[in-house]
Amino acid sequence: MSPSAKVIAIDGPSGSGKSTIAKLISDKLGLTYLDTGALYRSLAYLLHDKNINESEVKKIEIYLSKIHLEYSPTKDVLVRIDNEDLSKKIREHYVSGLASRYSKLPVVRSYLKSFQREFALKKPSVLEGRDIGTVIFPDAAIKIFLTASSEIRAQRRFEQLKELGQDVSKMDINSIQADIEKRDEEDRTRTEAPLKKAEGAIEMDTSSCSIDEIVNDICDVYNQKVSLFK
Ligand code: C5P
Repeated sequence: MSPSAKVIAIDGPSGSGKSTIAKLISDKLGLTYLDTGALYRSLAYLLHDKNINESEVKKIEIYLSKIHLEYSPTKDVLVRIDNEDLSKKIREHYVSGLASRYSKLPVVRSYLKSFQREFALKKPSVLEGRDIGTVIFPDAAIKIFLTASSEIRAQRRFEQLKELGQDVSKMDINSIQADIEKRDEEDRTRTEAPLKKAEGAIEMDTSSCSIDEIVNDICDVYNQKVSLFK
């Protein structure tokens, strides 16, 4: 059995339920969970913080060659770069837009491609993002493409920001929905690893099915596939 046959690849636009579903699957099947959006957010946050803009490709390359990126190094830390815990900062609303801008760059994507492959080949994993089934693990055991209406995705995002304790008093659902639609459009139309359904991926609409149903279905298919290789 090839190592990537043990990978579950979940892709879809923001708010489609990827994180919730990936976390539940990883708990149920005992797989390692990798939130790849958190990696893009972290790099974008730091590059922006260091005033390195998207056109400065050489500077970005040098910067990436020097950093030490760690995913989930402890129970309480999701992402750490050069000993700085970024777990909270990357959840600020403005970082979503930054991530979408820097993630268009081949230099950023190729750096994170190596990181993701190395990470997930160590242990059976579930990865969620935008290009897991198309670029990172096209030979994953199962590829899932999640969708949901943009109204529902905006509502989920709003609730998520509230849960994270962010000040949502000046935000309204319509502006969040507009941000999400803009970001999805950018993710779908970029040249490098655009957001799209991978060949052979199963499409699931999370606005009409229950999360438990989807999780159980994915776990059943995974168990069947993995048992075939034993
Ligand atoms: O998943 P999340 O909303 O945290 O991702 C933030 C942004 O990072 C996305 O809008 C997308 O531009 C980028 N991203 C990506 N490829 C991934 C994961 C995230 O381009 N695999």
